Amino acid sequence: MQPQKRYFIHTFGCQMNVNDTNRMGEALAGMSYAPTPTADNADLIILNTCSIREKAEDKMLSALGRYRQVKLQRGALIGVGGCVAQQEKKKILEKVPYVDFVFGPDAIGKLPDIVSRIETEKVRVVETAWVDSENYVFPQADPKTSVGRTTEFVTVMKGCDNVCSFCVVPHTRGREVSRPFTDVLQEVARLTTVGVREVTLVGQNVNSYRGGISFAQLLLRTAQVPNVERVRFTTSHPHDLSDELIEAFRVEPKIMPHFHLPVQSGSNEVLVKMKRDYTVAAYMERLNKLRAARPGIAVTTDIIVGFPGETDEDFEKTYQLCADVRFDGQFAFVYSPRPKTVAGLKEVEWGPVPHEVKVKRLERLNALQRQCSLEVMAPLVGQTVEVLVEGHSRTREDRRFGRTPHNRVVNFDGDAPIGSLVEVQVEAASQSALSGRQLKTLSLPNVVIPEVAPVAESCVVG
Ligand code: SF4
Repeated sequence: MQPQKRYFIHTFGCQMNVNDTNRMGEALAGMSYAPTPTADNADLIILNTCSIREKAEDKMLSALGRYRQVKLQRGALIGVGGCVAQQEKKKILEKVPYVDFVFGPDAIGKLPDIVSRIETEKVRVVETAWVDSENYVFPQADPKTSVGRTTEFVTVMKGCDNVCSFCVVPHTRGREVSRPFTDVLQEVARLTTVGVREVTLVGQNVNSYRGGISFAQLLLRTAQVPNVERVRFTTSHPHDLSDELIEAFRVEPKIMPHFHLPVQSGSNEVLVKMKRDYTVAAYMERLNKLRAARPGIAVTTDIIVGFPGETDEDFEKTYQLCADVRFDGQFAFVYSPRPKTVAGLKEVEWGPVPHEVKVKRLERLNALQRQCSLEVMAPLVGQTVEVLVEGHSRTREDRRFGRTPHNRVVNFDGDAPIGSLVEVQVEAASQSALSGRQLKTLSLPNVVIPEVAPVAESCVVG
């Protein structure tokens, strides 16, 4: 019998990419590849890339340099998938001669064919065609790869029909395609059979979902699937935050009280250049309505600092917006031009912001956010929070780790099985996590979840 081959996937970027990595693992399992937690003994290494920010691309190139040794020593196959692969296939193949294959997000299901071709025909393979909406088949998650997890992603749509001027997604993932709601609900039901109790519905722009019912209805129906305790989703565009979706937050407690609502800038002038399709006033109107419907809801956001043409005054408006809203968390980044985007092409015309100015603005914004996050977390000390136990704490093996409904990370002393809902007494708080001790167990999962590393977690996220 031939020894089983091993694969290692290095994932860059967001939750969408982590989800794609899981689908890649499932495709490879079908051809007798098993995951390995380190690249050093892998026979196949895949970099699942992200091109939202320039830094991620640089990180991919430096990782490729490291994996070259494994290629030299073991003859490992090396492939590049994801958004950078879609956009820069020619550059990757020219610059990195030891890359064996390049494949786009729509070619994940073809991985077995791609790998077989390289193994038998000894050729380099490029597979980056988009599949148009009528023919696109969403990869079905295999519940076996979710064993060991109580929280899982479920893809509900792909692509994006918006044209935000800084964003590569429309160029790398194509137009929006929604998955039929019956398929989504069936996948959620299958996941519950291995102990999954929390699902996060994912898509580039989930709240414009059109898979036979509205996105709000999809959330409500997902919440009704037996053994589902928590429903989350990511990520959203403010102009698709409908009254119906807000109402769903009011009526369904299983939709978790956390909304990631990217604002990107607090200046209307910048928002117009970004082609974001809303004003600051419209964003605030939606946000206030959401907060009224679900008091105490955690709101997080994305912000781009130093967008081309952003003046000091524009930035002050963003700073003021953040000071007023007091987001629970924010992902703020300095602008970097991305290939083929309108903002990248017009950067010189609109006026590039000097790097040191961008960095100073980002530091101010981050300092404000640290203060806002601490204001949210500190008052929780002494209180009891509900936590879904996800596994061992990453900082201390003998502690547990989980999240509150508001998506706050909690590390705690306790021994509740993975998948339990427990009450935790909060004893300490930092801006990013809570610490405490387990009080009582509120409920157990419907099946015993083994404390093993999940099968598809043969990846690191960079
Ligand atoms: S809505 Fe999001 S994914 Fe779509 S173009 Fe804008 S930033 Fe990109």
